Amino acid sequence: MADQLVRATAAEGGIRAVGVITTRLTEEARQRHNLSYVATAALGRTMSSGLLLVSSMKRAESRVNIRVKGNGPMGGILVDAGLDGTVRGYVDNPSVELPPNPQGKLDVGGAVGHEGYLYVIRDVGYGYPYSSTVELVSGEIGEDVAHYLATSEQTPSALMVGVFVSEAGVTASGGLLLQVLPKAARDLALVETLESRVAALKGFTPLLQAGKTLPQIFEDLMGDLGLDIMPETQMVRFHCGCSFDRVMGALKILGEDELRDMIEKDKGAEATCHFCNSVYQASADDLEALITELHQEKA
Ligand code: ZN
Repeated sequence: MADQLVRATAAEGGIRAVGVITTRLTEEARQRHNLSYVATAALGRTMSSGLLLVSSMKRAESRVNIRVKGNGPMGGILVDAGLDGTVRGYVDNPSVELPPNPQGKLDVGGAVGHEGYLYVIRDVGYGYPYSSTVELVSGEIGEDVAHYLATSEQTPSALMVGVFVSEAGVTASGGLLLQVLPKAARDLALVETLESRVAALKGFTPLLQAGKTLPQIFEDLMGDLGLDIMPETQMVRFHCGCSFDRVMGALKILGEDELRDMIEKDKGAEATCHFCNSVYQASADDLEALITELHQEKA
């Protein structure tokens, strides 16, 4: 099934539900960054989380950044997700591979590290972005983001994200976020019902592998709770807004001396975008043009 995001409500608006399928975009990230299996799972889970978190924002320019800094061998993760359905991200050490954990699953928690911090930055497109930090619970990402929602945003939430990757690449990836909104949060029976049903699912990717669509998954979970699935299906994709012009803008900030140095030593410059691994080449002539611009701006 194509990558997509579907929203729903239940219990007369007391429950907000979002589901996302990120199979193709996680495969694209795997190929772009040459990710190991465990790094693919870590980044895929974080990208799904980013798309789920940003889906509740209102302004079209809204974005969510998730930064994970654990003490594991993979180093940090950075994901940038937009309400427009675009997402991009990377991990510091993409080649780290670990043996499976005791449950026989990819050891995402071991790669990320069980201690560290999760930073979430919500940016509505103007003014100061709102940022919040929580300690990691397990480094498995899903639990960490759910912990963030419960503590920083005080919304009882069930969040589940998963990635299935093998020799064939990523064949299932996505997640589910269920939130009990303030008007229903005092209904403890409703919160417990949701929590126990989500716990009974035993993971998100088995549902996709069984051929379930997002509306079917919602139906199974909340069909008896006054489920209302929004008719719009939003497409989601891996996309990075980097460009040659932006790279040149970044080089220009280095100043004339540095640019002269690059022209003499390297006959140009090469810059790689962390987010998408695109490589940009600036020739000596390109750099000379930047120096000319700098002179013109001074004059
Ligand atoms: Zn890029």
